Amino acid sequence: AADNVKASNVAKIKVVVRKRPINKRELAKNEEDIIETFSNSLVVHETKLKVDLTEYLEKHEFVFDAVLNEEVSNDEVYRETVEPIVPIIFQRTKATCFAYGQTGSGKTYTMKPLPLKAVRDILRLMHHTYRNQGFQLFVSFFEIYGGKLFDLLSDRKKLCMREDGKQQVCIVGLQEYRVSEVETVKELIERGNATRSTGTTGANEESSRSHAILQLTVKRSADGSETKPARVVGKLSFIDLAGSERGADTTDNDKQTRMEGAEINKSLLALKECIRALDNDQGHIPFRGSKLTEVLRDSFVGNSRTVMISCISPNAGSCEHTLNTLRYADRVK
Ligand code: ADP
Ligand code: MG
Repeated sequence: AADNVKASNVAKIKVVVRKRPINKRELAKNEEDIIETFSNSLVVHETKLKVDLTEYLEKHEFVFDAVLNEEVSNDEVYRETVEPIVPIIFQRTKATCFAYGQTGSGKTYTMKPLPLKAVRDILRLMHHTYRNQGFQLFVSFFEIYGGKLFDLLSDRKKLCMREDGKQQVCIVGLQEYRVSEVETVKELIERGNATRSTGTTGANEESSRSHAILQLTVKRSADGSETKPARVVGKLSFIDLAGSERGADTTDNDKQTRMEGAEINKSLLALKECIRALDNDQGHIPFRGSKLTEVLRDSFVGNSRTVMISCISPNAGSCEHTLNTLRYADRVK
C-alpha cells in the first residue's frame, strides 16, 4: 500500500497530540485526569481560584490534526504519524518528526520505537519496490546539549557544523553507518541512548536538557549501482526534544542551568518560527536562531514534511505545562 503514495498527498505539516495515561504516583496524590479527548480535539479542565479562594473550572479547547488518547498504542502512533511519510523519502523529500513536551510527558516513550518501525518499512521498500536500484540506507545519531553537538555513535565525540556553498549543512565527522538489517539499527540506537548525557544526577534529569536527533538517510549512486559515490535522496529525522519546561530555567541559581535553559528556550522558539515559516511558504526561514534549527536547515528547505507530536501529561499538577505545550502546538499548526 505504501508504494504508490504521492508526496503531494501528504500534508506539509501535521500536528498531533498524545496524552499519556495517569500514573500510580499521580493517583496516590489523588490527582485528577483533567484532559478530555476527542478524535481531533481536546479539552483541558483547569481548576482556578477566585480572590476569595473558592474554586471554579475553566475549559480550554484545542483542535489538532489528531488527538491520540492514553489507549493508543505505539503501533497506532506510528501509523498516524510516520508511516505515511516513509515512502516519500524515496522521492527527494526530507521529513522530520518531533516529540515536544514537558519532562515526563512521554516524549521518549513515543519517539523510541518510531525509527525502528520506519527502518523496517524503508528496508522493505528497498528490497521489494526499489529492488536493485542502488538505494542505500544510513543511520546517524547525535545530541545537542548546551548548543553543542555530540556524536552518540562515537563516544560523544564533539562535532562541528559547516555550511557548503550550496547552503547544505554538513556535520563534520558525524558517524554514518550503512545498514541493511533492522537488528543492526536496534543495536545502534541502544548504544546511542546509553551514550546520551546523563551527568551525575540521573538519566532523565540530564537527558531532558538535550535534543536527541536520529537521522535515517536514503542515498543512491548516480548510475543506480554500487560503484559510483552515493548521493542523498531523502532523509527522515526523529527528534526527541529537550523538556519544554527547561526553557524556563533562565532564573535558576546555577549559572550552567541558566545558560542551558536559555539555549533550550531559544531553540524551541526558533523551531516554532521555522515551522510556521514553512507553512506560510515564506522565502525567509529563520534558521540562524539556534543550533537546532541550523542543523535541520536542509530538512526545512525544498521538499519537506514535518510531523509534530506534542506529548502531554493528564494530571492536574501538570496543567500549566500542558497548556503551554498545547499553545505551542497550536501556533505551529
Ligand atoms: P519524557 O521523555 O517526555 O521525559 P518519558 O517518555 O520518559 O517522558 O515518559 C515518562 C514515564 O511515563 C515513563 O515511565 C514512560 O514509560 C511512561 N509513559 C509515557 N507515555 C506512556 C504511554 N503512552 N503509555 C504508558 N506509559 C507511558
Ligand atoms: Mg525523555
